[in-house]
Parts: sequence; structure tokens; C-alpha cells
Amino acid sequence: MKTPSANARPSLAAIARRLEVAFRADRTVTLKPQTALVVAVAVRAFAVQPTRDEVVRLICNQKAPCEGFCYPCIALANRISQLYAGERDGR
Ligand SMILES: [Zn+2]
Repeated sequence: MKTPSANARPSLAAIARRLEVAFRADRTVTLKPQTALVVAVAVRAFAVQPTRDEVVRLICNQKAPCEGFCYPCIALANRISQLYAGERDGR
């Protein structure tokens, strides 16, 4: 069986479990610097909620920004927005 090394990046699922256990026990949590960095990156990613139109502007391959957006980009942006909303399939 593989043993995780001391430098291995902590898994988000393991961190979340640990935080939930501490919450239920009404305990304060202290994070090691490497774990704190992982949590900071995850929280920052969680806080990002781009609008569908922002996603369209990012993914559209047209050289000039199009007024009405092209249909394939809107469809893809809708799927990406659904993923951000927690719908795993996004289709
Ligand atoms: Zn486009």
C-alpha cells in the first residue's frame, strides 16, 4: 500500500472531512501552512461565479467581440455555468 509522503498535497476531501468533524465537535482548527494554502485556493475558486456572458466572452474565438454572441459559445457557456451551479453533467 502506498503511503502519502510528508510533502504530498492534502486532499480537499480529507480537509473538508476534518473541518466538518471539528465543526461538529465545536473545536477550533489549526492548519499547517501547506494545508492553509490548499484551503485558500479552494475558497478562492469557490468564490468565483462568472456569469454566462463572462464565460462566453472568455471562450469565444471570434477576433472582435460579437454583439449577440455566437450560438456554439452560448451553448458551451451554459454548460460551464451549469457546472459552476453544481450540476455535474452540465448538458
Ligand atoms: Zn463565439
